Amino acid sequence: MTALKTSSPELTGPILTTTQLEQVSRLASSLNQQQAIWVSGYFAGLSQQAPAALLAPDAMLAPGVGSHEAPAAVPGTRLTTILYASETGNSKELAGSLADAAKAEGIEAKVADVADYKVRSLKDEQDLLIVAATHGEGDPPQTALDFFEFLEGRKAPKLPEVRFAVLALGDSTYEHYCSAGRRVDERLAELGAERIAERVDCDVDYEDDAEEWIASIVGQLVASRPESDGAATNGAVAVPAAGGVSTPSAFSKKNPFSAEVIDNLVLTGRGSTKETRHVELSLEDSGLDYQPGDALGVVPQNDPALVSTLIEKLSLDAEAEVTVKKEPASLTDALTGGFEITAATPRFLEHWAELADSAELRALCGTDQAKERTAFLHDHHVLDIIDRFPAPGVEAEQFTAGLRPLQPRLYSIASSLAAAPDEVHLTVSTVRYSLHDLERTGVASGYLAGLTDEDATVPVYVQSNDHFHLPDDDAPILMIGAGTGVAPYRAFMQEREERGADGKSWLFFGERNFRSDFLYQVEWQAMLKNGSLDRLDLAFSRDAAEKVYVQDRLRARGRDVYAWLEEGASVYVCGDATYMAPDVNTALTDLIAEHGGFDEDGAQEYLADMRRNHRYRLDVY
Ligand code: NAP
Repeated sequence: MTALKTSSPELTGPILTTTQLEQVSRLASSLNQQQAIWVSGYFAGLSQQAPAALLAPDAMLAPGVGSHEAPAAVPGTRLTTILYASETGNSKELAGSLADAAKAEGIEAKVADVADYKVRSLKDEQDLLIVAATHGEGDPPQTALDFFEFLEGRKAPKLPEVRFAVLALGDSTYEHYCSAGRRVDERLAELGAERIAERVDCDVDYEDDAEEWIASIVGQLVASRPESDGAATNGAVAVPAAGGVSTPSAFSKKNPFSAEVIDNLVLTGRGSTKETRHVELSLEDSGLDYQPGDALGVVPQNDPALVSTLIEKLSLDAEAEVTVKKEPASLTDALTGGFEITAATPRFLEHWAELADSAELRALCGTDQAKERTAFLHDHHVLDIIDRFPAPGVEAEQFTAGLRPLQPRLYSIASSLAAAPDEVHLTVSTVRYSLHDLERTGVASGYLAGLTDEDATVPVYVQSNDHFHLPDDDAPILMIGAGTGVAPYRAFMQEREERGADGKSWLFFGERNFRSDFLYQVEWQAMLKNGSLDRLDLAFSRDAAEKVYVQDRLRARGRDVYAWLEEGASVYVCGDATYMAPDVNTALTDLIAEHGGFDEDGAQEYLADMRRNHRYRLDVY
């Protein structure tokens, strides 16, 4: 046993069961030091305690890891660690699938969120597999910022002993596609680590590419096992379906539940400049459950009017047969539920450039045209491209071959199961705008807005969002949200009310106009009255000549906000990622500096420390 202890001051001694202690003992004598450290971390994970040497406190293990049997670590076996940097849960899910696929081949891997990973352990890794999502305009997920800062900083160690592979997730409609994964991949190579395989970049329809990558990586790991003849799998590993690891219900992203629409109301009042809806769905008999902070995946259908317009513009037969997910379908069905037909991707541009034989489009596809291409795609949906660059005689299948599969959309859940059993509520802002004199509607928000019939149903699944869950009942919470970003706070407060949580709570809410856009006004006021919500600050941006935003309210209440932080409050930010979240971050930094007596660096460190301790949580896009 002593071999498993390290001199690290962080080794606080995880509590293991007797069986686990016996397993550790048996293994200990045959392991070298690195293997021993890895195994101690592994068992620490099993005991749900802080893994001794590798993970920081609050370490979170991927689904399935806690239920693994003892690792089959044998002398000479390379140790495998799988890290994920996840924003919406896809990378985490794939990390779990990779671990399962490795396990099926007798390779035990430790799985961790980079947010919980002790970066100093990097140099002790042997085989390091990373699944990294890119968020917003090319950034790593919020929770991965510290990991990236360390990895790309001067303190990052040389890693000549480490082998690695990176799977990057992203969205090709963005200019900095998969840039987080690319950064990790390039940096690890720069630090001297050896690539096991080339990085694979996956678009929003990542499943097939990811499965292939997983199979190939596990094949490589098997091949490099000292006792292996390398021919056991030859890369052809049975991979569990992505998404099959986290949801105990029979319903998942791949098999969504058809939820009945119970209610679909416009929340915004007369005269509002926007339409925000409250949608209630039934989860009865689905077995689906969720926690406040989680998201609901909605599988939408495209606007039938847009489908008809496209078919007409292309002079195609609505019943022509095309292939969707390897199955035959009519063109109408394919364009309704199979493919994205609004925003175009760079791949569609390339595809259409050839079909339309357009030099202008071809020029836009050049590698040096990223900015121009992004600007063009911003202004030109699929419909606008085929309209402006006709391709006479194009066939149905030629057209759909350039489109990408229709993706589900995630919405923050606005209810708590404790308060509304068997239900899930959403707060949805219907996206409507005009482009080239044509009225457009957001794919999922428009679809949901149209579900007003009594027997309407919608395919849904639950996407867990560990980074945005509530703290302990007695911890104070500060909730900051603008527009529909208020949704998860309704879930938080319902849950806290039901549980009789005694932690204080304070909501900062911003919208356009008090009269028409004070979402859930009556509910907040009732909560204030019954004492479950302690404070409410409102910022209505369009009621006065000068704009007022949530961050202005935060600054104005700076002294009290700082006092709450000092009392251990957790801060939540939900809503727009591009402008609001950075502005709120600046306001928090400023008020911490002012009221805590820090310089700017000190205030930033204060916030970074909160983030590391899961007390500063963002759910923004
Ligand atoms: P919205 O109308 O876009 O904005 C709501 C309020 O925020 C308005 O009063 C707006 O003011 C104000 N605002 C504008 N710029 C701001 C800034 N820099 N800082 C603070 N407030 C600012 O609201 P919405 O249509 O409901 O959309 C909300 C946003 O949240 C969307 O971007 C949505 O995608 C996002 N969202 C994200 C999540 C998530 O990540 N889980 C959940 C829900 C919503 P003015 O318009 O008057 O300038």
